[in-house]
This record gives sequence, C-alpha cells and structure tokens, in this order.
Amino acid sequence: MHVRPRSEIVSLHLEDDVNPLETTGKYLEPEEFREALLDPDTVILDARNDYEFDLGHFRGAVRPDIKAFRDLPEWVEENREQFDGKKIVTYCTGGIRCEKFSGWLKTAGFDDVSQLHGGIATYGKDEKTKGEFWDGMMYVFDERIAVPINRVDHKIVGRDHFDGAPCERYINCANPQCNKQILASEENDEKYLHSCSHECRVHPDNLYVKQHGLSKDELEARLNAIGESLSAVTE
Ligand SMILES: [Zn+2]
Repeated sequence: MHVRPRSEIVSLHLEDDVNPLETTGKYLEPEEFREALLDPDTVILDARNDYEFDLGHFRGAVRPDIKAFRDLPEWVEENREQFDGKKIVTYCTGGIRCEKFSGWLKTAGFDDVSQLHGGIATYGKDEKTKGEFWDGMMYVFDERIAVPINRVDHKIVGRDHFDGAPCERYINCANPQCNKQILASEENDEKYLHSCSHECRVHPDNLYVKQHGLSKDELEARLNAIGESLSAVTE
C-alpha cells in the first residue's frame, strides 16, 4: 500500500490574517539557531503538527498538541504561561509557516520572537551545523514522508503505534474514514491489518481487508490472533 501524501496547509485561518511582509520574527541562520538551542532562557517552539513532531524534532523543543496549523494560535493562548517573559524561537519544515506564525506571536504580545530562516530543510543542508541537535527524521508532505536531517548523531524518536518500539515508518490507517497516519513496523503493519484500532479493522470499508480479499472467517481468524473478534474485543 502506498502512503498518501498530505498537503501542507499554511493558513492560520485568523480573522485578521498576519502579513509576514509586515510583521514577522527575527530570522536566525542555522548557526545562530544552533546557539539558541543551547540557551536556557529560550523556548524552542515547534510550529508543526503533532504527527510531524512525533517523527522528529529539535532536542528540547515544545510540542504543540495540534492536528492542524490553524489551531496553533489557540494552543499558544491556552499554554501562555510556558512562553510569557521568555525568548521564543520557532521553526517549521521550510520556514513558510513560521513567517506567519512568528508574526502572529508578535501581534499576540510576545516581544522577543525569532524563527529559523529556511526551516529545518535548510538547517539540515547547512555544512556548519550538519543538522546537529535534530532527533529523528523530518516529516515531509510528499511520498518520501521521512527525510534525514542530523548528520552528526542520528537518534530515532518515533515510536511504533502498536508496541512502542523505535520506528520511523509511517502508514495511513486502512479505514478510509480514519486515514490516520501512524508509525508501524512492517511486522505490526501486517499483524494489525494496516489499521490503527479495532474499530478500523472491522470497518466495512477497510481497504486492507478488501485488497487481501479476506473472507469473514479469515478476518475473524486474523482478529483472534491479536485478541479481538468480529463481535468484540476479547480482552
Ligand atoms: Zn484508523
């Protein structure tokens, strides 16, 4: 099965959308950004979605609990005490979302706001930083899904959805109504029918079941093997 790429959405859907040509954070070049990573008075704020963060992020960065970029301002307002009075440095994949988001931070009353110029992609290509202090892989919005960044000391931070083992392999849940992206080894992918949950495995539109032509008995046998059944979860 192929992983279906998602499109990168860069709008904050605010009533007064921020124009980054007028208001945006200070630009930090890769070396300056690496210094900021080591500064205890600076909060490093990831401006991407939770599933992007979970595959890889800068060491020590704050993970916003959001599924979509447009939810970021509300999340920051709700967690304002983490950022008040601190220097904020934000980053994203290619630097585009940050231009908007850092502008929004300034209009929201944060004074000292910076952003990684050119995003993680530029940082990873930089010959001086060599992607240092990035852990895991960078999530990208095309069929590659995961791209390496750190050429100094690569460390896996992704965790398998099913057993929590280190993992950098994303799949889309086979229930098209769900389509959630989860990290899974090839073994668990097969074992759990390419689906994130029991509900998705027994969903009538499940693509794994269709593509493998599983009969009702065969599906039941596969479910029994993981402690589930067509009628209910048995444990
Ligand atoms: Zn699912």
